Amino acid sequence: MIAGYRFAVLIPFAAILSPLRGYRNLMNTLPDIKIVLVNTSHPGNIGATARAMKNMGVSRLALVNPMEFPSGVAVGRAASALDVLEQAEVVETLGEAIEDCALVIGSSARSRSLPWPMLTPEQSAEKLVMEGQSAQVALVFGREDSGLNNEELHLCHFHVQIPASREYSSLNLAAAVMVLCYEIRRAVLRDGEGADKAEYEYWDQERATVGQMEHFYEHLERVLVEIDFHDPENPRQLMQRIRRLFGRVRIDAMEMNILRGILTNIEHKIQDPQD
Ligand code: SAH
Repeated sequence: MIAGYRFAVLIPFAAILSPLRGYRNLMNTLPDIKIVLVNTSHPGNIGATARAMKNMGVSRLALVNPMEFPSGVAVGRAASALDVLEQAEVVETLGEAIEDCALVIGSSARSRSLPWPMLTPEQSAEKLVMEGQSAQVALVFGREDSGLNNEELHLCHFHVQIPASREYSSLNLAAAVMVLCYEIRRAVLRDGEGADKAEYEYWDQERATVGQMEHFYEHLERVLVEIDFHDPENPRQLMQRIRRLFGRVRIDAMEMNILRGILTNIEHKIQDPQD
């Protein structure tokens, strides 16, 4: 009884409403896609990004710790996309920018040491457009000189790589934004033709957001340390692998609450085995 109660209190009120929100998947609303630029050095790239976004019908921009913003150079390069710049959200960390997102795709020109689920530009656009109809979703771009670091890449569910020439595969930041936003545009235009696809994607619960998943990872890590499964002094990529696993599975908010409930009961049993 007590265990059931502990589980029940973890289920937020929003979960009761979510089947209704899931139903929105069946309607063709415009996807809510956030373009996130991390630590951009050149304000010209921010302006050119705003222009590329507006050309392709994407309007929500988030800037993580930009080197120079606001900037006249950005305004000049944005041309008639000033509204995108003016409404841009400026935050300190990538975590803050994507906290409310249920799907995050990171773009990278290079393959990394721990392989992550990869999408083609076309597949990433399909996913963003489909899931962006019922949840906030994000596409993340890195720094001009060094891209996204491993920690930032591990906050993403998927990675996308533009299959550029092997001789020189790293695009200019705003050019990469243009290519991936063009794919988003094509997916939006295609979407008008295939309503049955949306039905195929229907799910009764909303997916867990990045913010909810971060709390879960913290909780899981704490319990793994308590039961001596995990040694933070010798982590052996355990938490990165767990992130990759859950990123692949894409659990919903209800499933996440079940796991949180299990972890809470494990903690209670450790503290008081007779309970
Ligand atoms: N020198 C950096 C590349 C930075 S380019 C590196 O090696 O990682 C700036 C950003 O544009 C990248 O972080 C990425 O988000 C995007 N980008 C550039 N080329 C890309 C490609 N071929 N595929 C996907 N994203 C790319």
